Amino acid sequence: MKTLPCILYREFPADGFKQIQQTLTGAVNRRKTTRPLPLLFRADDIGVPSVNALRLLKLFSNYGVPLCLAVVPTWLTAIRWEKFKAHVDTTSPQWCWHQHGWRHANHQPSGKKAEFGAARTKSALRVDLIRGRDRLTSVMGSDFSPFFTPPWNRCSEETLELLAELGYRGISRSKGEQTRRAPLDDFFINVDLHTRKEVDAVSALQALCEELRQAVEEYYVSIMIHHQLMNESGFELLDLLLAFISQSSRFKVCSFSDLGEPESG
Ligand SMILES: [Zn+2]
Repeated sequence: MKTLPCILYREFPADGFKQIQQTLTGAVNRRKTTRPLPLLFRADDIGVPSVNALRLLKLFSNYGVPLCLAVVPTWLTAIRWEKFKAHVDTTSPQWCWHQHGWRHANHQPSGKKAEFGAARTKSALRVDLIRGRDRLTSVMGSDFSPFFTPPWNRCSEETLELLAELGYRGISRSKGEQTRRAPLDDFFINVDLHTRKEVDAVSALQALCEELRQAVEEYYVSIMIHHQLMNESGFELLDLLLAFISQSSRFKVCSFSDLGEPESG
């Protein structure tokens, strides 16, 4: 698992947040309606109550902003869960604790990585989904919500069918993975804060602002967080973003449980 923050946060531009704020404000003001814009935060690779993971929870807890947490079943133990519980009220509807794969392992022999990709048989996919859900349910009890974020934000058509068959309430992948309409609610993410691939900070900031602008135009802003890749700049930006969003009447922060499937408007 990579832990080096991307270039944007290693060399965060001095006016970075100002640019992001102006982008959001400009895009929201261009909209004809004043209906609050649905906004979602999803944090991936949860399971170990590390310093960064607990700091992330504390930050969201301070603002009272909902957060969807994708938990890797094999990473979560009863002892680790107790540690999460000691830091936040895990039962609060603010959190949507849900499933992130089984052990976050790639099974594709080549091409893009996936744990639930086309290289696997339907029975193998089913086994991993069920044992992942069983493990999370046994550790978290009723705090677990039956939504699924596939590792690397992609999965096979068979996985979608299985999720629907097994009664999951929704899936969350990357925007662009929707080759056909999913048989369950699809809370795709369209803004990537921490796994950006640009080679310099200025282009990374520009690309991030462009994602935010497009997301506002789509009337659905869904922001992906990777706490393992966050340094001080990463936390500072997220703090400013949460302060801005929670003070603005133009946004309505939701979680999978209360959003319903995104629709444009
Ligand atoms: Zn992941």
